[in-house]
Amino acid sequence: MEPIRKLPMVDLLTQYKHIQQEVDQAVLDVMRSSAYINGPEVKSFASELGSYLGAKHVIPCANGTDALQIAMMALGYQPGDEVITASFTYVATAEVIALLKLKPVLVDVDPETFTIDCDAIERAITPRTVAIVPVHLFGQCANMERIMEIAQRHNLHVIEDTAQAIGAEYTFSDGRTSKAGTIGTIGTTSFFPSKNLGCMGDGGAIFTQDDALGNRLRMIANHGQSVQYQHDEVGVNSRLDSIQAAILRVKLRHLDTYCKARQDAAAAYDATFAENPGLQIPIRLSGSTHVFHQYTLVIKTKSRDELRSFLDTRGIPSMIYYPIPLHMQSAYTDPRYQPGDFPVTEYLCKHVLSIPMHTELSAEDIAYISSNVLEFLNS
Ligand SMILES: *Cc1c(COP(=O)(O)O)cnc(C)c1O
Repeated sequence: MEPIRKLPMVDLLTQYKHIQQEVDQAVLDVMRSSAYINGPEVKSFASELGSYLGAKHVIPCANGTDALQIAMMALGYQPGDEVITASFTYVATAEVIALLKLKPVLVDVDPETFTIDCDAIERAITPRTVAIVPVHLFGQCANMERIMEIAQRHNLHVIEDTAQAIGAEYTFSDGRTSKAGTIGTIGTTSFFPSKNLGCMGDGGAIFTQDDALGNRLRMIANHGQSVQYQHDEVGVNSRLDSIQAAILRVKLRHLDTYCKARQDAAAAYDATFAENPGLQIPIRLSGSTHVFHQYTLVIKTKSRDELRSFLDTRGIPSMIYYPIPLHMQSAYTDPRYQPGDFPVTEYLCKHVLSIPMHTELSAEDIAYISSNVLEFLNS
């Protein structure tokens, strides 16, 4: 049977149509300026994003994976140094650690927020540990207060992977608030089109409050040169295109509206799912807002994969973020880790399901999606 309607997981086209005039004009202006690389749009975007986040230095770069790599290069780690990160994350986080010949040390996540488990961080620290890389997964900050306290006690850096949580706000117990990505030593993000602040190609950025580190990050992203044709160390070539920066300047002005649209959609999903014993809705940590890069359910009683197939027959897409834990990926197998070592991660990989979440969801879409989820769970 043909589904009654076919919904997208993410609706970038409708989002674009609402701001088409502004975006088209911004792109045309760059084309007519011929300042395609490192033009004024890139500088303006970096400074506007810095103001939005409260970040002293914003260094735009080519993508979120490069952002993580440049961050770790700038901190001057030596091969074999240990970097602690979550076993339940996108591969990029662990990939750059391995690529730089550092040692990824994986730890399990919290079953409620899916972010890095702080007790597990403490247990994983050794004399070779240099950094903790919390991932603000699905749009909610990890427990940054506790992570910063652990880092200070052990003299470690904190690199926040904010690719999924740009705009999220963290509140410390003393009432101080900070935007995700501005709390640790360095924050990194991605402007991949489907991220909460997405461009129309690839893009990324690095944030820091530290002047010396800001200069170093800028230098490493630009072939390791501080002055043109003078290379102080080995760097990389990682730039944000002027056209993407111009698009991001437009979209940054809408970011708070976009966050609100996602939060409203999440609240509407919550209202229909609450109290259903067959699933766990996204649990919010008191210290952080949630900007819902994903709305991820834990399917507890019935088969997640059967629910996914059922939704597909109704024209409802869904995705599994992430189906295979890092320690069970061929590229990252390590004699230190065995299946069973990260029980929460392994459980989540089998039971999570992300349903459509974007800025253009209508009340009707949400009602249609949630009634189908409930129909399957209650059958
Ligand atoms: C998307 C993402 C990245 C990588 O970003 P790219 O721009 O695709 O390189 C890194 N970490 C996390 C958690 C992500 O979601």
